[in-house]
Amino acid sequence: MAHPSDPNCIFCKIIAGKIPCYKIHEDENVVAFLDIGPLTRGHALVIPKGHYANLLEAPPEVVGKVAAEIPAIARAVLAAVGARAFNLLANSGAEAQQSVEHLHFHILPRLSGGSFTIPWLPGKLEAGEGAALAETVRKNLHA
Ligand code: 5GP
Ligand code: ZN
Repeated sequence: MAHPSDPNCIFCKIIAGKIPCYKIHEDENVVAFLDIGPLTRGHALVIPKGHYANLLEAPPEVVGKVAAEIPAIARAVLAAVGARAFNLLANSGAEAQQSVEHLHFHILPRLSGGSFTIPWLPGKLEAGEGAALAETVRKNLHA
């Protein structure tokens, strides 16, 4: 089946072979390649061949096909850089720092003592707020 494509999308150009990349995986539905601006050594991107802006736009079965490849690709990336941990990240939307509007998952290998960190400054979920918010989300899900 033909995948939707956007001629102006940089990742669609990579899929079409119009822009070179360091490819690490390709099958009927999924491509993975090294990120051109790695945050950590081995930083890789896993994308569907079809052009969908992000997780909110892609059909669940497309997301499923991409997700299914991630563990094997991550294992191979980790083995290549001597890491055993990684972060999986899908920036979805401009405020979340998504810059390329073609669904992609970042695989970020993490080494102990590495310089890359994610600031993690937890707040506190108050009981009333938690109950009200969860109720609203449940309603939205089943609307
Ligand atoms: P985002 O900010 O949208 O989550 O991530 C987009 C990622 O795509 C960035 O990490 C950026 O370095 C990477 N990227 C952008 N253009 C290219 C390219 O032409 N080739 C490769 N390999 N990666 C790219
Ligand atoms: Zn695209």
